[in-house]
Amino acid sequence: MALLEVNDISVRFGGIVALSDVTFDIEEGSICGLIGPNGAGKTTMFNVISRIYDPTTGSIRFNGGDLVGGSSDVAPHLISQVGIFRTFQNLALWDRMSVIENVMAGAHVRSKGNFFSSMLNIGRKKEEAELASQAFTILADLDLAGVAFQQCAGLPYGTLKRIELARALMGNPKLLMLDEPATGLTHSEVDELSLVIQKIRTDYDLTILLVEHHMGLVMSISEKVVVLDFGKKIAQGLPSEVQENPAVIEAYLGAP
Ligand code: ATP
Repeated sequence: MALLEVNDISVRFGGIVALSDVTFDIEEGSICGLIGPNGAGKTTMFNVISRIYDPTTGSIRFNGGDLVGGSSDVAPHLISQVGIFRTFQNLALWDRMSVIENVMAGAHVRSKGNFFSSMLNIGRKKEEAELASQAFTILADLDLAGVAFQQCAGLPYGTLKRIELARALMGNPKLLMLDEPATGLTHSEVDELSLVIQKIRTDYDLTILLVEHHMGLVMSISEKVVVLDFGKKIAQGLPSEVQENPAVIEAYLGAP
C-alpha cells in the first residue's frame, strides 16, 4: 500500500517552473530516494509535501486521506500531527541545551500545549519524566546514550546529525523526509548514517523519503529512486535500473 501518493504536482514561482506534473508514490515501510541535479526541484517537492508551499496544480494523498489538492486537506500547522516530519540541510539544534533536552523538544508537536511552558509546570513532572525516558531510549537506539547529558555545542557534526534524527523520532513520524543528511559527513560517518537510517526504518516502522546528492548512500539503501531534472520526473525505479537509465546518466550521473 502506498503511504504517500504524489499526483501531477506542479509548482511555479512567477515565471519559474520548479516542478512540472510530477507523479510518484512511496510504499509504506520503504525508503525512496529523490535525486536530481541542482535546481531539479527536490527541495520544492519536500516543501510541498510538508505543506510549506501550495502546489500550483496537482494533489497529494497521505495515509489514505487528502494532504493537499483534495477536499479535506491537512492544514500546514497540523502536518506533524498526521505523522510527517523532516530534517533540514542545515542543523537546527539548540547548542546550549543538552542533547536529551533537544530530543525531548521533538515531542512538543504532538501535545496541544507549549512544551517549554509545560516543562516549567510542576504538575507536569510525570509527563516530563516519561518524555525524558522516551528520549533516552531513542538516544540509546541511535548509539547516543553516552552524550545524552552533554551540551550539543562541540559535539562532532555526524553526532549532531544523528541527534536531529532522534528529535524527529520523538514526534512518532510515519513519513520521515531527510534533506541531504550526508552533506558534510566523513566517509565513515556516511556508513554509520546508512546503518542508522535502515535501523530506524525497521525499529520505528518508518517510511522514508531521502533527498541526497551522495549517490552511494541513495543507491545502497533505497528500494526505489525517483529522478527529477528541471522540475520534471525523468525516471523512477530500482536503484540498479535508474543507474543504467541513459536519461539519468546524461542529466545527472554523467555530469562532470
Ligand atoms: P539543490 O539540489 O540545489 O538543493 P533542488 O533540486 O532542491 O536543488 P529547488 O531548490 O527545489 O531544487 O529549486 C527548483 C527551482 O525552483 C530552481 O530553479 C530554484 O531557483 C527555483 N525556486 C525554488 N524555490 C524558489 C522560490 N521560493 N522562489 C523562486 N524560485 C524558487
